[in-house]
Amino acid sequence: MLGPVILAASRSDRMRRLMTAAPGTKQVVDRFIPGERVDDVVPIIEDLTGRGLELTMDVVGEDITTREQAYAARDAYLELIDRLKPLELGERVEMSVKLSMFGQALEGGHELALANVRPVVEAAAEIGTTVTLDAEDHTTLDSMFAIHDELRKDFPQTGCVIQAYLFRTEADARRLAANGSRVRLVKGAYKEPAEVAYQQKHEIDKAYVRVLRTLMEGEGYPMIGSHDPRLISIAQELARRAGRKLNEYEFQMLYGIRSEEHLRLAAEGHRMRVYTAYGTDWYGYFMRRLAEKPANLRFFLRSMVTKG
Ligand SMILES: Cc1cc2nc3c(=O)[nH]c(=O)nc-3n(C[C@H](O)[C@H](O)[C@H](O)COP(=O)(O)OP(=O)(O)OC[C@H]3O[C@@H](n4cnc5c(N)ncnc54)[C@H](O)[C@@H]3O)c2cc1C
Repeated sequence: MLGPVILAASRSDRMRRLMTAAPGTKQVVDRFIPGERVDDVVPIIEDLTGRGLELTMDVVGEDITTREQAYAARDAYLELIDRLKPLELGERVEMSVKLSMFGQALEGGHELALANVRPVVEAAAEIGTTVTLDAEDHTTLDSMFAIHDELRKDFPQTGCVIQAYLFRTEADARRLAANGSRVRLVKGAYKEPAEVAYQQKHEIDKAYVRVLRTLMEGEGYPMIGSHDPRLISIAQELARRAGRKLNEYEFQMLYGIRSEEHLRLAAEGHRMRVYTAYGTDWYGYFMRRLAEKPANLRFFLRSMVTKG
């Protein structure tokens, strides 16, 4: 019940101001967002790759309101890629981007987001890696898939995300699986209406398995974005039945969530990629993590009271 309330708050400017100023917030935020600057995350990238993990890097931010912010987002990714170059990690460290941060919702936003994300995809390719387009709320997805198709003409390894909770996703999965795309499948983290999305956990989980089967049996590269132990076992079984080798799919989890499981799957020989977010505009990302698990909210409120 709390999840939708927290997701609604994630869109409120007033809540944003209250939360960011609250004592104790930083301590809880750090669990999910381990730094604000590139300098903070380079040691983390070195540490996690040294332990056999792969990463997808997210500069936090979304729903920007000016073109200057969109250019700044592009530049933040270019700076990161520049810093990755000497590390020579290739596809072990890729990028995740939210197109709303690249200007998608502004006037002429579709073209603006495409123009801003293209240099990031080009720079990523130059250091031997790639970019995955995150999925945001359902109203943004037609534009995201069109940008994905456009980028794939020159950079076929560009990935995208699909969300099991949306009714449209089974059809999207069939299309993407047939055209050989890299696809991350997640349950979905936004507040979506009943007209477009399953609302019950058991329905979402069942849809996740149906979509996963399509991806595993298709021509593309499935990326299983989930911490759910049941879905992880099912993914392993579906991959085995589809005759996929361990390097023909991968698991992905968020930094700070079930970290032991990251290492366990990597030790079993799986490709395990940790989605690592950093930056100053962490509010939306952080609120979605609170909404996913009410215990996080209790911990957060306790730490506010103790510090306050
Ligand atoms: C790599 C990655 C990328 C993602 N990208 C997107 C995206 O582009 N668009 C989008 O809409 N969503 C994205 N998500 C979020 C996703 O949609 C879910 O909201 C999130 O993964 C929780 O679902 P779950 O599959 O882990 O299952 P759940 O049933 O929510 O969780 C299973 C178990 O995982 C643990 N867990 C899950 N979430 C948390 C948490 N916040 N804090 C502590 N423990 C937790 C708990 O032990 C829980 O019981 C992404 C998730 C991952 C892992």
